[in-house]
Formats: sequence, C-alpha cells, structure tokens
Amino acid sequence: MDGTFDNDLTKIEDMDRAHVWHHLMQHKPLETGAPRIIVEGKGIHVWDQHGRQHLDGVSGGVWTVNVGYGRESIANAVRDQLIKMNYFAGSTGSIPGAMFSERLISKMPGMSRVYYTNSGSEANEKAFKMIRQIAHKRHGGKKTKILYRDRDYHGSTIGAMSAGGQDERNAQYGPFAPDFIRVPHCMEYRKHEQDGAPEENYGEWAAEQIEQVILREGPDTVGGLCLEPVTAGGGVITPPEGYWQKVQEICRKYDVLLHIDEVVCGVGRTGTEWFGYQHYGIEPDFVTMAKGVASGYAAIACCVTTERVFDMFKDDVEDPLNYFRDISTFGGCTAGPAAALENMRIIEDEGLLENTTRMGDYMLDQLWALADKHKVIGDVRGKGLFLGVELVADRDTRDPVAEKLAQKVVAECNAQAVIIGVTNRSIPGKNNTLCYSPALIATKDHIDELVTATDVALTRVFG
Ligand code: PMP
Repeated sequence: MDGTFDNDLTKIEDMDRAHVWHHLMQHKPLETGAPRIIVEGKGIHVWDQHGRQHLDGVSGGVWTVNVGYGRESIANAVRDQLIKMNYFAGSTGSIPGAMFSERLISKMPGMSRVYYTNSGSEANEKAFKMIRQIAHKRHGGKKTKILYRDRDYHGSTIGAMSAGGQDERNAQYGPFAPDFIRVPHCMEYRKHEQDGAPEENYGEWAAEQIEQVILREGPDTVGGLCLEPVTAGGGVITPPEGYWQKVQEICRKYDVLLHIDEVVCGVGRTGTEWFGYQHYGIEPDFVTMAKGVASGYAAIACCVTTERVFDMFKDDVEDPLNYFRDISTFGGCTAGPAAALENMRIIEDEGLLENTTRMGDYMLDQLWALADKHKVIGDVRGKGLFLGVELVADRDTRDPVAEKLAQKVVAECNAQAVIIGVTNRSIPGKNNTLCYSPALIATKDHIDELVTATDVALTRVFG
C-alpha cells in the first residue's frame, strides 16, 4: 500500500457527497467536510482516500470482517464459483450451498437445517415467520407472541424492529407489528436500575423476569423468545452466571421456542466456540447468523433450525399450505456459501478460535488496567474479541457520561488512525460503551495499539 490509487479520488468524494445516502449518519456535516472513503484493506488495516493507514478495531465497523481484509483465497473461491454457476433460486440446490450447510451443521451439535438468506434482519424474520407458522399449524393460531429483550437488536426491517429493544432506534418508525412483547434486560452492571434486583443470583432472577412476562401474557399465547447471547449494539452486555440455564429451563417449561441471534457473536467472534450460545450450554431451536459467516466477502445469512422444527413443516403433504411459504431471492446466490466455506476453513486452519480467546483475554486485562488510571471507566466486559468499555460520569452512581463525550473518545482514536466504535451514541441516560471487535487475526501488537490509542484519547477528552 503506497497511498497512490488509480482513480481521481477527489472526483469520487464529489460523487459520494452528491449521491450516496450513507447508513446511520447525519449528512449535514458532509456538505462541507469530506466523507471517509475506504479504498483498500489488508489484514487488520484499511487505507482511506488520502492514503492514510488505519488500524481497524471494529472489523469493518460492525463486527463483520472476522478473517481480515485482502483474503485472496476467498476472492478466488467466489470468482471460480461465479464463473461456473452464480445463481439459481433457493428452491433448487447448489454445490456450495450443500457443502457449507454440511460444514456449518458439523459445528452446531443438535442443529440440522440451514435456510439461506442475505442479511441478519432477514434471517431473524425467517425465524419469526417459522415460529408464527408453527403457532398456526400446531397451536390453532395461538402462541403467535414472540418475546424479545430490552437493549437487544435484531435488525432494521419493520418486523425485526418490532422485536427491537433499543427505543432510540425505533422512535419515528412505528407502528410496529403486533404480538412482539418486550422482556426486561439482563445487565449485572446496571442491575441497580431494575426494581427488586438482588445482590446474589442476579442471573437467575433476570431470567425469572422473562417467566413473569410469559405468565402475564399467558403461556398458551407465547411461541418464541429471541435473544442475543451477548448483546452487541445495546452495550456489549455479557450474561451473568445462571442466566442462560434458567432461560432454557423456562422455554422448555412453557413450550417456547428459543431463537438465538448470533448475527454478531457467530462464527468465532467470542472465541473458543464457533457460536456465542455454545459457551452457555444452550440447546436452541433457531440460530440466526450473518456478519462473520463470510466476513463481508459476500452477503450471506442463515437461519438454522433443528430437525424437530424442520419436521413440523413436512407433515400432511396433501395440504398445499403445509410448507414454509417463503423465499429470499438472493438466498440463491452461490457466492455466499462459497465465501463462507473458505472463511470457515481459514478460521480452522489458522487456529483463529484459539487466537480470539487468547487475544480477547489479553485485551480484557489491558482494558481493565486502563481503568486504574481513568476513573471514567465504569466497567469492562465482553467475550473473545468482542469487548466493551462503559464510560460513567461517577463510579458510585454509575451515571453515564454526558452525551457525545464517548463519541469524542472515538474521534480522538480516529485522530490516531485507530478505528473503534461506540454504542448508544448521543442517547442521554443510556450506557455509553466503547466497542472493540478487531479481526480474529489480531496480534498482541494490534491490541496494544488499540489500548494505547484509547488511553491517549481518554486523557485528551477527560484529562
Ligand atoms: N442482529 C444483530 C444482533 C445485529 O447486531 C444486527 C446488525 N447490526 C442484525 C441482527 C441485523 O443484521 P443486518 O444489518 O445484516 O440486517
């Protein structure tokens, strides 16, 4: 990378400014300022239009590029597949679709079927639709309610937003779909905000809050429960001991299908295990995944179910409505599974699950060490290379820092050519958590650079 590019990047900036509507962004400042355009990437680094190198601490901004940039073997696998056969609708099979499903299921004991689609939101919608159809097929149209948790996020479509636990994202897009019911969050660090939360056994208590909602709504009306194993955008919230075991118990007790959203946690992000839920001994009915499945080299998402769920759609072959009446056009693209297969091979052959655990543990220690120096750090948490640092104005009251200060820390990291993220930006009264999710290939040097940049940024913003 030498900072020279073929295109006239000033023109590219002008085109972008004139015509691109960027995601999740207020555009007014771009009328005068320049948009950031990422031109190249290699390993854990990216280069912008000015030829400036950045350390990417967030895997493409949103926990996606798990195996890092510039992977020629993935590009070649996709290229070869596209030349041979690029697309046919998903009611037919494809070679990479079959091969990846077999490979994926081999990493998910208890699971059995892969439904291909192209975004995390859509994968979640598929699970919601399956749960609803089971309610109609098996429960006489009852059990249509789907529970979701405060602070969890499941996507940007109206259906997925109906299961969205972050009010700040939902404001102004309602009304939403009926029969999505919110359950309380589970966040040890902020349990003082929940009436009746105990000092001991908080995890079990938090799970029982879900049971309370099931009892209030009526168990015969509740068909599914959708949760993130570790909440991502809601504040990098790790579950306390006892939580998941109890959640599983409750789901079994009331015949509620458990849907785990692994869109962020999936495919190695949390280290050691392929999926976040596998750390907690959960046996889900649905697992949805997207971002890391092909590390952003192709758009692919999956809704994975058990054979038990799948079988429910096979009975009564004479009934013309008795199958999952759903299609996702681009779920038939072969580039996705071709990229995903090679992505998985890389993770395995390069020992990236182990590296993620090693580097994640190291980074967690280094970030806690920063807390000795910076009183603004209230909590450090996460799993694998999926970490968060919550900033507070006061460690005793745990009041969040004033809005925009966390964003300033991010900007000060950017000024050092280090990209990190933040949750709940500018939301008064919500936790402001710095986010770190470097590629799973991260080395100690990369982690040190991320932590040092954060140290400098915190000093610049808070003194
Ligand atoms: N679930 C979770 C946990 C997510 O973080 C996201 C995206 N950030 C989604 C679902 C939605 O995925 P997509 O943007 O691919 O639709």
